[in-house]
Amino acid sequence: TSVNQEEFDVVVVGGGPGGSTLATLVAMAGHRVLILEKESFPRYQIGESLLPSTVHGVCRLIGVTDELAKAGFTHKLGGTFRWGARDEPWTFSFSVSRKTAGSTSYAYQVERMKFDQILLDNARRKGVEVRERCAVNDVVEDDGKVVGVTYTDADGTVRQAGARYVVDASGNTGRLHRHVGGTREYSDFFRSLALFGYFENGKRLPAPRSGNILSVAFGSGWFWYIPLSDTLTSVGAVVRREDADKIQGDPETALMKLVAESPLISEYLKDATRVTTGEYGKLRVRKDYSYTNTKFWKPGMVLVGDAACFVDPVFSSGVHLATYSALLAARSINSVLAGEIGETAAFSEFENRYRREYSVFYEFLMSFYDMHVDEDSYFWQAKKVTSSTRGELESFVELVAGISAEEFDLSDAESVALRFKKRSAEFADAVGELSGPEEGGDMKPLFKSSVVRQAMEQGTQEQTRAILGVGADAPMFPGGLVPSGDGLRWAVPDTD
Ligand code: FAD
Repeated sequence: TSVNQEEFDVVVVGGGPGGSTLATLVAMAGHRVLILEKESFPRYQIGESLLPSTVHGVCRLIGVTDELAKAGFTHKLGGTFRWGARDEPWTFSFSVSRKTAGSTSYAYQVERMKFDQILLDNARRKGVEVRERCAVNDVVEDDGKVVGVTYTDADGTVRQAGARYVVDASGNTGRLHRHVGGTREYSDFFRSLALFGYFENGKRLPAPRSGNILSVAFGSGWFWYIPLSDTLTSVGAVVRREDADKIQGDPETALMKLVAESPLISEYLKDATRVTTGEYGKLRVRKDYSYTNTKFWKPGMVLVGDAACFVDPVFSSGVHLATYSALLAARSINSVLAGEIGETAAFSEFENRYRREYSVFYEFLMSFYDMHVDEDSYFWQAKKVTSSTRGELESFVELVAGISAEEFDLSDAESVALRFKKRSAEFADAVGELSGPEEGGDMKPLFKSSVVRQAMEQGTQEQTRAILGVGADAPMFPGGLVPSGDGLRWAVPDTD
């Protein structure tokens, strides 16, 4: 039996990066949001290498930049690859792109138990009701429209929560996505299995690249080698479906045999010991088959992150696609709830942009698995699939930084932030002068707060515009929408 029907504007299923980002952005627009998360955080998840678009774009919008900076995550300046026809490893740096040049030319390598916790706690602080150990069982429909969910809470009681939108952010194992209709189509091309674990005291690339992800192709597939701290490394072997038998049997033996196939990874792990206790002590296997659902939404329900689609992990696009789709879906929900944009227009914009980003990675990755060419050919492909007007290397870096959509321009986000800081200090001084020097004096609190608020709002809009980039004024698709000034909604573009 279900008890206590509660009503929310939005119920989000899953508190991973997709779910907590979406919930935060909807709560910031003043709506009542509930996250139902079946696990108790911190919980383990793979997907540790992030992109600048997530760290400096979406994470800045939801307000966790400072907290992430304080968390001590490894700085990832780019990627180093032993990949393609040449034996020599090659490296790309995020700083090559003028859109991430300077202070935003890095991302983080994160322990997901810490990163996801920061995002979920931030959602709570921004007003989201978060309930852990609550597993959603089903969605509730009324006349073809999704109107809520049923879930089992921590005490085993079955409950129902009503919502104007249900967001499925339950990751790759959930089944709720079926309620939007359509099918989940698996790629014939990307069908691999990953076997992964953690090591202490593995070798590091020489500075300043010691925080780079190292990706190494070998006979049966490729390795990721991700430095999570000075001493802890995440190591995973991704093997093709045809070689699946290589990860059968005892996982320890299997992993060590695969390591032995790669001279470079063997060298990096020569003096390392595998972690054998705690969450990092387990060796895990995951299918990383790529898939995409043919439908991403229906009235009252929308899919974000792995619940909607997943593409091969070689360029670490998973968390980027989860947080970016969360931003797009949040804008659609906020616009519809505010009565500003019709549901079909708002969610078509979400789906078009999301599919575009997914297919850029998908198409590029197809050519990246051609091992008979060298890196210049990969750079050329990146320019082709993004239709970029920039140089080949720069197009490649923008694609793999998650900023090819002209939506994020991180280059002057920092300088705008500084300008804003300076200006709000000027305002504060001006207000201080008006209200007299003495402490507490005869301040006019109303006046003070409204001026400061205005300055803050303007500053926030300016910062957001900088983060959202130069292309934000023009629609991405003919007849489409553009992000609003505060980044939280869609707007109809100016036609003059
Ligand atoms: P998740 O992070 O999976 O979160 C979903 C949440 O929903 C979970 O907390 C789960 O407990 C909860 N949930 C599930 N069902 C229910 C339910 N019924 N009720 C309530 N809660 C529920 N990405 C990267 O960015 N970088 C990488 O380096 C990278 N490497 C990868 C390597 C491999 C081998 C694989 C397979 C993936 C990799 N990824 C990587 C992808 C990354 O793991 C995912 O894309 C990312 O975690 C998706 O985030 P999400 O928020 O959509 O889902």
